[in-house]
Amino acid sequence: MTEILKNYLGGEWTAGKGAGTPLVDPVTGDEVARVSSDGLDLDRGFAFARDAGGAALRARSYAERAALLAEVAKALTAKKDDYYAIALANSGTTKGDSAVDIEGALFTLSFYAKLGADLGDARHLLDGDGVSLNKDGSFRSQHVLTPTRGLALFINAFNFPAWGLWEKAAPALLSGVPVVVKPATATAWLTQRMVADVVAAGILPPGALSVVCGSAAGLLDRVGAFDVVSFTGSAETASKLRGHAAFTERAARINVEADSLNSAILADEAPEAFDAFVTEVVREMTVKSGQKCTAIRRAFVPAARFEAAREALAAKLAKITVGNPRNEAVRMGSLVNRAQHDAVTRGLATLARETEVLFDGSKVALVDADPARSACLPPTLLGLTKGGGDAVHSVEVFGPVATLIPYDGDVAALARKGGGSLVASLYGADEAKLGELALSLADTHGRVHVVTPAVAKAHTGHGNVMPQSLHGGPGRAGGGEELGGLRALGFYHRRTAVQSAAGVMAAAAKDGAR
Ligand code: NAP
Repeated sequence: MTEILKNYLGGEWTAGKGAGTPLVDPVTGDEVARVSSDGLDLDRGFAFARDAGGAALRARSYAERAALLAEVAKALTAKKDDYYAIALANSGTTKGDSAVDIEGALFTLSFYAKLGADLGDARHLLDGDGVSLNKDGSFRSQHVLTPTRGLALFINAFNFPAWGLWEKAAPALLSGVPVVVKPATATAWLTQRMVADVVAAGILPPGALSVVCGSAAGLLDRVGAFDVVSFTGSAETASKLRGHAAFTERAARINVEADSLNSAILADEAPEAFDAFVTEVVREMTVKSGQKCTAIRRAFVPAARFEAAREALAAKLAKITVGNPRNEAVRMGSLVNRAQHDAVTRGLATLARETEVLFDGSKVALVDADPARSACLPPTLLGLTKGGGDAVHSVEVFGPVATLIPYDGDVAALARKGGGSLVASLYGADEAKLGELALSLADTHGRVHVVTPAVAKAHTGHGNVMPQSLHGGPGRAGGGEELGGLRALGFYHRRTAVQSAAGVMAAAAKDGAR
């Protein structure tokens, strides 16, 4: 039996009770570690985070907290090799795919460290200017944002054990709010190790950062009115969480990032647009084996370009070698575990009822991986060639799978059939037309990514979440909002209108950051 990873809660390391749940190497099927959260003193742990961690963080200014983030980024950078080794062993990802998670985490931390430094010595934010409430202007209203007097609980998905922690923790800690993270069990090791390294480096005040690995049982029962919960995962789990008394009775705040049927749209005839579209669809299907919440699931092409797109996509997909990422010839590694492998296979069967298989990667043997034991699954491109289509707009297959969909007419209406998505990307050369399409998609998408020939090489990628831009989407994508620069701090602050004579808020207005 492998080691049980310890939990860090209440300022101490504790192993959960029992045999724990095994974490596996998805390529070999070997056990790599175990986790258990059984028997933890959650009441004490949560109180310690709120009281000790929260008070110590709130006593510091934004710039001081930003300096802590910079130190965290430095400490993690020094241990990067360990993180790549863990990602390889526990997520079965190639070095390039592990980088999306690990380097993405470090980049986001450093971004918030810089952003926070500019907020200076302030301990609260001003929300707009003060406004007069009466005729002579003697009585005014000033909106202020102060850090919530609770903790931030993160319940995270398996696909981003590094970035998923730090893209949330950076704005929370910068805001002055302590963090308790519950990583997805399958890949909890990397999150746990990063927390362990930060704790060992002694950077953050006690109680500022805690990790609970294993079952989430009992966590939401401890969430109080001033705590905030940020959930990333499936729509199914999200709907269970939303009904918890933490939110329905105690009115704690919850942010949800869930499934999404993201689109790529070839919008016009420009040849460069076609090439960029094909490159991006293949990249999104294969990076992290398609296990990205932002990955392209639906690729829309004008009906007249369907055959050309099918050929170009199939030709590129045929070059993707799949298997054990320890072999340098491998371009795409594994899914996270056999359960995910089986879920993707089931999802493919559902989509197959209304689509045709345009490319089937499973005809080529896996490299250094046993198809019966590993969770490696080659890419599949489907085509909606029989018209109609229902499942393609509603079933998220969380793996290397996308559907090519021909359109004639209102493509925005088709994209909206996804019920609200994280991202849609548009490919074309007609800037005015693209601008119009981007705006028409804005009401149902968190991000619209437009690729014109001028930025074909310079754009940041359909699926890459940049901390400067909003991440999240309406409707089935969960209705959440993350990142977007300083906008991310809003979730961790309370907005209050202080109504008073101007003098009462004079100092606060002078010292507050904007
Ligand atoms: P999941 O099965 O919903 O699990 C997500 C998290 O919720 C895990 O930490 C899980 O813990 C926990 N959980 C499960 N049941 C719970 C319950 N009853 N109460 C409290 N917590 C509970 O999702 P996943 O399979 O890890 O992730 C894949 C999904 O996440 C995909 O649908 C993907 O689209 C979505 N995703 C979205 C984003 C985004 O930003 N929008 C990013 C990444 C992924 P255990 O692991 O211990 O069960």
